[in-house]
Amino acid sequence: MNFYDSSLYEDYLLENGFKKAENIEDASILLVNTCAVREKSVSKVISFLGQVKKLNTNNKRLIVYLLGCMSPIYADILKRDGLIDFAIGPLNSNSIPYEFKRLISQIEGFGEKVKKIENKNFSRSITVIYGCNYFCSYCIVPYVRGKERSVPFDEVINRIKLYSENGAREITLLGQNVDHYGFDLPNSVNFSTLLNEVAKINKIEKIDFITSHPKDFNIEIINIMKESNKIYRHFHLPIQSGDDRILKLMNRNYSVYEYLKLIDKIRDSFPLASITTDIIVGFPSEDEPSFLNTIELVKKVKFDKIYLATYSKRPMTKASKIDSEVDPCEKKRRLNHLLSLERDISINRSKRFIGTEEDVFLTTKLSKNKYLGKNLEEREVLLSSINELQTGDIVKVKVTECDRTRLIGNAI
Ligand code: SAH
Ligand code: SF4
Repeated sequence: MNFYDSSLYEDYLLENGFKKAENIEDASILLVNTCAVREKSVSKVISFLGQVKKLNTNNKRLIVYLLGCMSPIYADILKRDGLIDFAIGPLNSNSIPYEFKRLISQIEGFGEKVKKIENKNFSRSITVIYGCNYFCSYCIVPYVRGKERSVPFDEVINRIKLYSENGAREITLLGQNVDHYGFDLPNSVNFSTLLNEVAKINKIEKIDFITSHPKDFNIEIINIMKESNKIYRHFHLPIQSGDDRILKLMNRNYSVYEYLKLIDKIRDSFPLASITTDIIVGFPSEDEPSFLNTIELVKKVKFDKIYLATYSKRPMTKASKIDSEVDPCEKKRRLNHLLSLERDISINRSKRFIGTEEDVFLTTKLSKNKYLGKNLEEREVLLSSINELQTGDIVKVKVTECDRTRLIGNAI
């Protein structure tokens, strides 16, 4: 989501005569887009801003803008410490906020249009729903991004068409809970209708979406996916914990049983589907039995990838008021345990493709005969080809081996 927000700011600045600096020393303005989901990302930004401050000299001072989810909470203190000049909160629509335009327009040189540069990226993302209506007890997102707001249907479609005219072939639809898309819009559109319409756009070859909520992901979406080979058979469904007591404390609104039923449904339709998840270890009051339930769940589902995080106490959240914090060393032990389990499972999962012939969508040309691409399950494929190929081509590849993250094979 932040990459997408950054790309909107970038497009705007390029269109208005700004140039992208090669490195920070050459820049006059620095835009720092931030995430506040975990304390670690916040600390990284603060230490980065400290380093940036040291670059200022008597002759030159960088103008620093703080963007994104840290702004509503940390802007005042960072301004006071002289680490930033301006702050603007997370983007909450697909257009640049007036406040940003106004601040930028005050900068000398603004408006001398050098040349209009269009973003020609091959792969683009678009936020289709902003904010979140759930209040998972550990999560800061609803406090900084606000309530759910879907981007009007036609606006999404027109923007994707525009991206495709500019060279985009792969599109990722973004939202904290994409399954809620359209609930707040007239004309009874929902995420399935959107997915279906995006798949009809000729030049768009591949479609991805993130994130689905296990409570809301539904059979209607699966049915649309069955009709189009453009949509990756990749399901990112964050479980967060494999223990019902913890899930309840997290306010996730589903049980382990319901989650497993959903995985069955997906695998009934797409036996090879890639399934990925997010898990938090060390949520307050997580004890050994609850952690073992998470281990058991992971062994049952056999995820292709798990994005693991240790619990981080966030301001304003309900969980920050629960006393029974897990000891930091214990959190680390649980994290390492899960990491090693995840490694073993994901390498084994990759093996399901060895010996198969995959339709691979080429995303990167590495050298004359080496390419990177993705198969239908969105696994990365490193392939060799005797013939020269183009990114955007879909080629048949015989998979001969794999490592944990990549399938390896030859174009046939
Ligand atoms: N909307 C998505 C995820 C949003 S935040 C969902 O519902 O799953 C992305 C991920 O960050 C979460 O899935 C969670 O695993 C992690 N995360 C969020 N808050 C956290 C916290 N306080 N401590 C540790 N990890 C957290
Ligand atoms: Fe955060 Fe929960 Fe909303 Fe995801 S669904 S953004 S975890 S509150």
